[in-house]
Amino acid sequence: MKIGVLAVQGDFEAHGRALERLGAVAVYVRVPADLDGLDGLVIPGGESTTMLKFLENEGLFGAISNFAARRPLLGTCAGAILMATVVCRPAQRSLELMDIAIERNAYGRQVDSRIATLSPSSEFAERTAAGPLEAVFIRAPIIRRVGARARVLLEYHGDPVLVEQGPHLAVTFHPELTTDARVHGLFLEKASAK
Ligand code: GLN
Repeated sequence: MKIGVLAVQGDFEAHGRALERLGAVAVYVRVPADLDGLDGLVIPGGESTTMLKFLENEGLFGAISNFAARRPLLGTCAGAILMATVVCRPAQRSLELMDIAIERNAYGRQVDSRIATLSPSSEFAERTAAGPLEAVFIRAPIIRRVGARARVLLEYHGDPVLVEQGPHLAVTFHPELTTDARVHGLFLEKASAK
């Protein structure tokens, strides 16, 4: 299975390694033609405004929109911001793939990064594996509203942190920075569905 990782900035190589540990081939995506033949695409963390400008300037905004109509996307942190239907503080354009409203940098500057231990929902545990999940949050957004088309798979203190909509997943933490492979594993299962 070939999975693209948008390689604009941020920790895209950590995603590549996480995917390769699970047996996928990681392809770094910088131009629209790089999307050809991929089974799925990861949009990593970083700075979502910078990433948005890159997508617009390189013709990737439209190309990824088209790709997402056919194949699954996993957006982490800034990637989740780019996938949301509504982005606030400040508002910005997005791919509108996930029926959520998301607030940027919502944990505030004082506590902008943390490692938390999540208790998986029974659905997440059944679809992956049981047991606590370590989640790294870095200047993370908070999902403030989940619409009818999206479903929450993981929460932290009552806030959704992993949301699914059809083939797509959006996560506000960084699953590529721990050795827990469950989020990437769930994504690969979705990407292997033809
Ligand atoms: N704070 C960043 C933004 O708003 C996201 C942070 C991240 O991806 N780690 O774009």
